[in-house]
Amino acid sequence: MRVVQKYGGSSLATPARILNVAERIARAYREHGPLVVVLSAMGDTTDELLALAREVSPRPHPDALDLLLSTGEVVSIALMEMALRDRGVPAVALMGWQAGIRTTPSFGRALIESVESARLERHLSGGKVVLVAGFQGVTAEEEITTLGRGGSDTTAVALAAALRAERCEIYTDVDGVYTSDPRVVPKARKLAHVTYDEMLELAHLGAVVLHPRAVELAKRYGVPLYVATSLDDREGTWIGGEAQDMEGGRVVTGVAVDESVARVTLRGVRPPEGALKRLFGLLAEAEINVDIIITSVAGPDGLDVAFSLEAGDLERAIELLAARRSSLAYDRLDAEGGLAKVSVVGAGMASRPGVAAGVFRTLADAGIDVKMVSTSEIKISVVVEREQACRAARLLHTAFGLDDEAAEAEGTPSPQGGRREA
Ligand code: ASP
Ligand code: MG
Repeated sequence: MRVVQKYGGSSLATPARILNVAERIARAYREHGPLVVVLSAMGDTTDELLALAREVSPRPHPDALDLLLSTGEVVSIALMEMALRDRGVPAVALMGWQAGIRTTPSFGRALIESVESARLERHLSGGKVVLVAGFQGVTAEEEITTLGRGGSDTTAVALAAALRAERCEIYTDVDGVYTSDPRVVPKARKLAHVTYDEMLELAHLGAVVLHPRAVELAKRYGVPLYVATSLDDREGTWIGGEAQDMEGGRVVTGVAVDESVARVTLRGVRPPEGALKRLFGLLAEAEINVDIIITSVAGPDGLDVAFSLEAGDLERAIELLAARRSSLAYDRLDAEGGLAKVSVVGAGMASRPGVAAGVFRTLADAGIDVKMVSTSEIKISVVVEREQACRAARLLHTAFGLDDEAAEAEGTPSPQGGRREA
C-alpha cells in the first residue's frame, strides 16, 4: 500500500511544528512502512524570498528567481531528514530534480511533464521515508523551475499518480472541506466526502483548501485525496475516491462566496455579427478572465453584452474597451464594482430539478436582487451586491439543509477552531 503525504507551510512554520510533523511521519512509517512525503517551505518563506529578490532587483530574472524560491522547500526537507533520523526513521531528502520531476521551461509557472520515479521506487523498496521538496522541478536543460504559488499540492498529487499510490493525504491548517466558509456561515459543517468536481467548483469559487490544479490532476489520474489538519487527529475530508452516497443523496453540498466580482455591460455593439468574437478576443489577449456572459437578442440597435470579471481587472478592462471604442463600435459602457458571486454547488443537483427555483425563491423572499445568473450541471451561481453576499450565503445554506444545528449561531469560529465533527 503506497501513500503520499504533503505538509503545507503553516504546518512547518516553526521548529516545534517541524518536530510535530516529524512525529506524525514517524507514526505513519511505523504503521504503514515506507512512504513519500512532500513538504512546502516553512511558513511565509516563499513570500520572504520574493520580497528579498525585489530588494535586489526590480524585475528579477525568472530563472534566477525560481532558483531562489526553490530553496525554501529544500530547507524543509533537510530539516525533516534530521528530525526523522533522530527518531530512528530512515529518511532521504530529495530536491525536485532528484525525485525525477520534469517540467516545462515556463519559469514561475512550470507544468509537470513527467515523473521519472525509479529513484523514488528504489528508496521505497529500500525501506525509506522519501522526503521530496514540493513546488519545484527541472527542465530538459537541467534548469530549476517552480510550479506557481501553492504548487506543492500539485507535486504531491503528481507523485501519487506516478507511484500509483492508494491515496494522497494533504495536511494543512484547516481541518477539511466545509459546506461553506465558517467565517461567512457560522453554521457551516465539515464534509466527510466531496467529489472532484464539487471540490473544483468550491475551490474556484473561493472556498479554497486545495490548489485547483492539484484537484484536476487527482481527478485525471483517479487519485483519492484526503485533506486534514496536521495539528491533531480530527477526521478530515475525502475528495474523489469511491462514489459514496452516505450523506443521504444530498442535492447541495456547499455554498461558496467570491467577494471580488465586477460587471461590465456594453450596449449597442455593432454590427452584432462577430461582436462576441471581437470583444472576448480582445479581453483574452489582455489576459482578462471573464466569467459569466449574458447577451441580448440582437436587434436594430445592435447587441447588448454583459460580463462579469475579477474586480481587480475592472480598471484595466474599462481602459482597454474605451481605447478600442471605434473598432468595437458600441453605444455605451456601464461598469459596476462592489459585487459578489454566491454559488450553490452539488453533484446531486444534476439529476434533481428545482434547485434554481429554490435559490431564486430564497433570495427573492429576502429582498436580495440577483444581477446575473450562471448554471452548470452541478452549480448555480448568482451575482449580487457585495453587501448582501454573506446574508445570501447564510440563507441558502439554511434553505438547502446544510446548517450544523449544533453550531453556535453567534460568533465566527475559525476553520480549525474546535468545531463539532460533522
Ligand atoms: N512554498 C510555495 C508557496 O508558498 C509552494 C506551496 O507552499 O505550495 O507558494
Ligand atoms: Mg500551500
